[in-house]
Amino acid sequence: MVAGVLVEISNKSVDKIFDYLIPCELLPKIKVGVRVVVPFGRMKLEGFVLEIKNESSTNIEMREIEDVVDSDVVLNSELLELGKKLRDMTLASLISCYQVMLPKALKAKNNSHINIKYDYYYSLNDVNIDKLTSKQKEIVDLLKLKGSVLKKELTDISVSSFKTLLTKGYLKEEAREHYRVLYKDLEISKKKLTPDQDKVVSEVINNSPNNYLLYGVTGSGKTEVYMEIIDYYLKLGKSSIVLVPEISLTPQMVMRFQQRFGDKIAAIHSGLSDGEKYDEWRRIYRGEASIVIGARSAIFAPLNNIGVIIIDEEHSDSYKQSDPAPRYHARDVALLRAKRHNCSVVMGSATPSLEVMARAQKGVYKYLTLPKRVNGKSLPKVVVVDLNNSMKKVRGHLSLELREKINERLENGEQIILLLNRRGYASFVTCKKCGYTFKCPNCDITLTYHKSSSTLRCHYCGYGEKVYSKCPECGENSLNNLGVGTQKVEEELMQQFPKAKVIRMDYDTTSGKGKHEKIIDDFREGKYNILLGTQMVAKGLDFPNVTLVGVINADTSLNIPDFRSSENTFSLLSQVAGRSGRSEKAGEVVIQTFNPDHYAIVLSSHHDYLHFYEKEMTIRKQLKYPPYFYLCNIRISGKDSNYIFNEAIKIKNSLERNLRNTIILGPSTSSIFKMNNVFRYHILLKYKSSEELYLILNKIVEHYKTNVKIKIDIDFNPSQMF
Ligand code: ADP
Ligand code: ZN
Repeated sequence: MVAGVLVEISNKSVDKIFDYLIPCELLPKIKVGVRVVVPFGRMKLEGFVLEIKNESSTNIEMREIEDVVDSDVVLNSELLELGKKLRDMTLASLISCYQVMLPKALKAKNNSHINIKYDYYYSLNDVNIDKLTSKQKEIVDLLKLKGSVLKKELTDISVSSFKTLLTKGYLKEEAREHYRVLYKDLEISKKKLTPDQDKVVSEVINNSPNNYLLYGVTGSGKTEVYMEIIDYYLKLGKSSIVLVPEISLTPQMVMRFQQRFGDKIAAIHSGLSDGEKYDEWRRIYRGEASIVIGARSAIFAPLNNIGVIIIDEEHSDSYKQSDPAPRYHARDVALLRAKRHNCSVVMGSATPSLEVMARAQKGVYKYLTLPKRVNGKSLPKVVVVDLNNSMKKVRGHLSLELREKINERLENGEQIILLLNRRGYASFVTCKKCGYTFKCPNCDITLTYHKSSSTLRCHYCGYGEKVYSKCPECGENSLNNLGVGTQKVEEELMQQFPKAKVIRMDYDTTSGKGKHEKIIDDFREGKYNILLGTQMVAKGLDFPNVTLVGVINADTSLNIPDFRSSENTFSLLSQVAGRSGRSEKAGEVVIQTFNPDHYAIVLSSHHDYLHFYEKEMTIRKQLKYPPYFYLCNIRISGKDSNYIFNEAIKIKNSLERNLRNTIILGPSTSSIFKMNNVFRYHILLKYKSSEELYLILNKIVEHYKTNVKIKIDIDFNPSQMF
């Protein structure tokens, strides 16, 4: 017999199936979807068995499979098929599509140090027992009494007597797998749903399968709705996947699911070690956990019989994998799996992405809504502070209005969250005095500052201009491209509010196991008055005593060179505002900005998603952006800048010859033009129909496959422009 094996090697020209002979002794263990060890050139590699056949279709002399890695298949037939679809969809290598589905422990080179842990249990063997010493009798009596005992529990016994019993064959040793993550069975906590929530739940369970957008304002009880739907399917013996952005996969969130579903859940997040992730994967694979909660890659959880897939905070760009390949969107994978399992996908958000909302408006997805907060609590009042006018009264980074409101809360013993918006601030130029930023006249995208050439460039179309020293808007000499750090603002807070206890939550203070959790717990317990942080503070947190949220710099995310900057800003401001006044006390929000008239800021201050959607859609239509056009980014990189630029031109020409109705921009330099001595150009495509596009892109990828001087990366629906 012959096996077709896909080897695990990250060489772009090797991505195909090679035939190997199956030696007789391995025959019983070889199945489609198991991992094997095979000789490859002078190396030994791991690979996946993708087919088993009687004979090879080629005449090449075959070598033998050397070993089988796992006791069972790691990729079932659904996932094997899904991998092929993923490859077709993203033009990534097939092996990368399988690797992305598996925990690190199951990838080549990594499994050597990530083990399965075992607990050893001892019991009496069914044999005649001779005369025993008193110490031996003690052990035998204990085992008679308890049946089976964990090694750790045998503390007070004589070690040598124990060994003697073991060697005489009186004792039986049994290894049982030990999972590193434990879920306590907590009290069942279930809330009575409001009529609005009830309506959403019954719509989903009565009309399944369907794909739904659930548009619900912050605090409208979406999570409660998800749990009710999941519970319904659980009782039918079906499993569920809940995707959440990594950033909101907080212990608080996991706890809510654990309270309701106990050890039926498996929560996969970046706080777990590789060993823990491997254990969770096995619990899922074996059907011991049937509710999987996790970030993007949890969409590949090896579940059978899926009843529903939930995508919470559907708009989050963390659902798109940008690097490395496969550059997939978890939503697309969810839709594929749902089709196969004949189940529904529920995409929830307080600020749905334009793509999903547009499809809901067209009826492609069913539209569900939770328009009010639970218990009729109102959304917080938002005050927009114009930094242009209040310049003189700004101390450090805090306007008079914000300072006054902070003082008020401190006096009342209420808590405050401050957001320092840091998203991608580094590389654009802005006027300190009036907030002016430079934009591309063609693409309406913020221009990126290139220090080496003192130019501002557009990373979509390549437009460039010299940097001015004076602001063209207000004429002041106050252009800068510096961002502000959380540490700096923390110092200012401590100076200006010496009595307040401030805790900082950013990348620095949360890198370490359990640190994120501790900050949240401490803040909730009232050990601190002010929580200052980056985007991390915006999502998913539920603190009843927070009555003021301040956004220190709303403009940062407006200025990033991305056509989604308004959408992302609207979404961020709405999310962070949603942290205020979640309990009895009314909440308030202060947004500091140089652009008080920008529609993203005005409409988010009115909690007016629907008008924002309409306004943004007209702009997207004018500028030919999604959801009216699809985007595809082709990155061309290599060490020889002239060579890759010339090849980029050739690629552009061939695209122009072969594609109709496609707008082709570039080649232009990527925002990080040179990285590790590799130069990067890119070509951006705007298109409506993808058939011809896939054909030609496939040809281009194939053409450069064996060329070591150039690397082509394709990114459909990119979330970041490089
Ligand atoms: P969302 O996910 O839309 O932000 P949540 O599900 O987190 O909303 O609900 C917000 C708050 O309201 C939570 O504290 C939750 O426990 C509570 N809640 C949700 N539904 C109900 C309900 N039916 N009855 C009482 N409290 C509820
Ligand atoms: Zn441009």
